[in-house]
Amino acid sequence: MLHAADLVVVFTGAGISTESGIPDFRSPGGIWTKFAPIDFHDFVHSAKMRREAWRRRFAMEDTFGAAQPNAGHLAIAHLIATGKATQVITQNIDGLHQLSGVPADRVIELHGNTRYAKCLDCNARSELQTIRAHFEMHGDAPNCANCGGLLKTATISFGQAMPEEEMVRAEAATLACDLFLVLGSSLVVYPAAGFPLLAKRHGAKLVIVNREPTEQDSIADLVIHAGIGETMQAATPTLGRSQEGV
Ligand code: NAD
Ligand code: ZN
Repeated sequence: MLHAADLVVVFTGAGISTESGIPDFRSPGGIWTKFAPIDFHDFVHSAKMRREAWRRRFAMEDTFGAAQPNAGHLAIAHLIATGKATQVITQNIDGLHQLSGVPADRVIELHGNTRYAKCLDCNARSELQTIRAHFEMHGDAPNCANCGGLLKTATISFGQAMPEEEMVRAEAATLACDLFLVLGSSLVVYPAAGFPLLAKRHGAKLVIVNREPTEQDSIADLVIHAGIGETMQAATPTLGRSQEGV
């Protein structure tokens, strides 16, 4: 199906990064079996919740900081480098697609990025090291140096508006492709999970690679219940060439 396709769009979820050591949300042992997520309203209205959000983020730093792209990321980078795939639409916030060599303008981050912070009022970017130093000294995060607003990781929490430009780009890519490849997503989080549905409705083939069943297995043209790294390595046998550049 990859050979037959003209334009592939790859759609990734937390499952593509488990082989890099970052736990997903819904697998046994996943993040949500330990912590309930903090929604946007609670973050904005409660200093206690903000402290908890930052505490969790810094507790994850050793994991995020050490994580390197795995065979699945590299296979996608290869599909992009050869022009077979045009865009990676990701729900992930870990930045590993960019680290694997996919140009930043080819990665559409639907749920933002956890490797830096943004001011909720003026959007100014802040670096996590600065926030962490303040947090460790004072027990909470600083306010925006620019406008005094609240700082939050540059991620989209439940209850927070989706990023408009990314939604528009993801829709355009979805409508343009003839093969939509879902890797490592349980497909329960909307609006993100609407993109494979849209691709399928618009005539593209839908392929899902996931260890466990997903919400959209029944409408897919091909479902592979297996690990992403091994599957994608087998599906892109000339992978070695793209690894040289990483
Ligand atoms: P999810 O946790 O709901 O689903 C992940 C799916 O991947 C599961 O069905 C699991 O069976 C499968 N999976 C895990 N490892 C796999 C592997 N090696 N091979 C094949 N399948 C594998 O994740 P989701 O659908 O992305 O949605 C949850 C939200 O979690 C997203 O919004 C995302 O922003 C966020 N999240 C991101 C990260 C990250 O950036 N790495 C980590 C955790 C959660
Ligand atoms: Zn600000």
